[in-house]
Amino acid sequence: MSAGWDAAQAAAFPGELGERIYSSRLLGSDPTLVLHGGGNTSVKLRQTDLFGQQQELLYVKCSGRDLATIDADGFTGLRLAGVRRLTALDQVTDEVVNRELRLTAIDPDLPPPSVEALLHAALPHRYVDHTHALATLALTNTPSAERHVRDAYGASAIVVPYVRPGHALAHLCAKLIEAELNAQTIGLILMNHGLVSFGDSAREAYERMLELVAMAERYRAARVPAPHAPAPAAPTLTDGKPGLGIKLARLRAALSGVAGRPLTVRRDDHPGTLEFARRPDIATVSQSGPATPDHVLWTKRVPMLGSDIDGYAAAYRAYYEDNIGSIPAADRLPMLDPAPRVVLDPELGLCTAGRNAREALVAGDLYRQTIDLILAAESLEGYQALPAADIFALEYWASEQAKLQRPQPEFAGATVLITGAASGIGAACVEAFLARGASVCGLDIAEHVSSLGSGSAYLGLVCDVTDEDALAAAIERCALAFGGIDMLVLSAGAFPASARIAELDLQSLKRTFDLNAAANLALLRLAHPFLALAPGGGRVVVVASKNVPAPGPGAAAYSASKAALTQIARVAALEWGGDGIRVNVMHPNAVFDTGIWTEEVIAARAAQYGITPVQYRTSNLLGTEVASADVADLACAMCGPAFAKTTGAQVPIDGGNERVV
Ligand code: ZN
Repeated sequence: MSAGWDAAQAAAFPGELGERIYSSRLLGSDPTLVLHGGGNTSVKLRQTDLFGQQQELLYVKCSGRDLATIDADGFTGLRLAGVRRLTALDQVTDEVVNRELRLTAIDPDLPPPSVEALLHAALPHRYVDHTHALATLALTNTPSAERHVRDAYGASAIVVPYVRPGHALAHLCAKLIEAELNAQTIGLILMNHGLVSFGDSAREAYERMLELVAMAERYRAARVPAPHAPAPAAPTLTDGKPGLGIKLARLRAALSGVAGRPLTVRRDDHPGTLEFARRPDIATVSQSGPATPDHVLWTKRVPMLGSDIDGYAAAYRAYYEDNIGSIPAADRLPMLDPAPRVVLDPELGLCTAGRNAREALVAGDLYRQTIDLILAAESLEGYQALPAADIFALEYWASEQAKLQRPQPEFAGATVLITGAASGIGAACVEAFLARGASVCGLDIAEHVSSLGSGSAYLGLVCDVTDEDALAAAIERCALAFGGIDMLVLSAGAFPASARIAELDLQSLKRTFDLNAAANLALLRLAHPFLALAPGGGRVVVVASKNVPAPGPGAAAYSASKAALTQIARVAALEWGGDGIRVNVMHPNAVFDTGIWTEEVIAARAAQYGITPVQYRTSNLLGTEVASADVADLACAMCGPAFAKTTGAQVPIDGGNERVV
């Protein structure tokens, strides 16, 4: 539950918007009230404009902002009178609403306001809060919803039948407020959508929101014998049974095929989700619809059960054909891809898909909440979502689909596993692939590998790659977190101290071969089934060395082991071409911004040759310095379209070396 109002904390937020920001964050920090950008808040202020005129302004959340982290720049100021005039119109198109809202903005450069701006304007109160609280949805998403809501709230709230958000909802609310608002009213219940609270101060609106939620909870608690199950514990991605990873990868390959793009698919192992997926009545209980219509873009209307993807896609096409006719011809949008975003499988449990790791995570969070809601509504009476036509109307509303418009980067939906990820070329590859939208699983023996990236697209695992069991476990975790492995960058390697053959002992030779050659062979073998399932074809980038074509004295173990690795890669290219897997090798040289090279070492080497450190760094045909980021860029290129028709290649990245050329 939300933390509660703290006057000292509230006072720490200065300015006219201060308390508005504080209570918005309080609401946003409670996942039972809002999730992932849901909900919105506003405040009405009187300000003097450039011409000395007093004007009444509505500061309302900008579209797409998250209440939990909102700041003053997350609110946009609109001239209230203009917004109210617009709300009062009987019939108006989205195009006109959007244009008029832009015209009422006091700063035309600010992002557009939330689609609920008109609803905020329609209410006379200074502070307005809107959430999608689970407790209230547990009453509204039932067969006898209106009875439950009226019994639970009485005169405290005005009940608003479901209509699509935006102008239609604001227009209806304005009429109901005019007819029904009285001294006891502290909010609105928006059927199958959420609720609104209001007040003269931020604190009053916020505390009324909590009170409205508590009223729903008390109502249900008085009618059900046992309290609702406790909130699920934090997720762990460690306890997947062996073999689940490859099953998930097959599912992902099929979903991506139907979607026409690589999707990220993650397995959700929160407590309770597997039990839910295994319910004997899952075919009915899961197919009613989403908790609120605005989940639909991320979860689709209903989950897929088991693995009948063609059946799901056919049903989605039928849903589109059945409902598109009810939308005016000029507003009809083409069908979205028919792949499910939520899958309930008796073995895998809950799995969620998205165009990238974040969308898959959002779908998981939303669907777990839907499960909680289904259980809560069942404990009262039974779960019943809105009819499919209403869900469709929101899913195929241009204002809603605008959330999907952001262009996806090159490797969105794809996953790369990178060894030696904690430093040098490996770390540069982590950064480069994340920047291009890939999900990245980084392996390294160094512990800080786990903290290289933040957010849902990075999984860092401490792993000794010469330990085959540890490698297998890491691959399984990667597969369960992202749905497979599309790309592999073999960057882990040892660069032993210089030793001439006359002094080279066998143990150190074997150790170097273990890491530089044998460990990579094991990883290739373990990753092969996943690479073969990659939607865009599997891709392997092998970080070898200039020492393969041009070995150096004192580097027998290093040069020979990298040569062995290169031969393994060439054979893999021969053997795996039929599986659509490309294997290419790069030979970097003199990459000085890695752990091996310090400024002192470079200065000492330069002095040996009687040149400056800068000359030493750039002693190649092009006279240029090769950085680990340059090598990472080449690794990305080798996984991209430029190398789509190339396998078994060896590409130097060394500024030009006359022994190699
Ligand atoms: Zn809403």
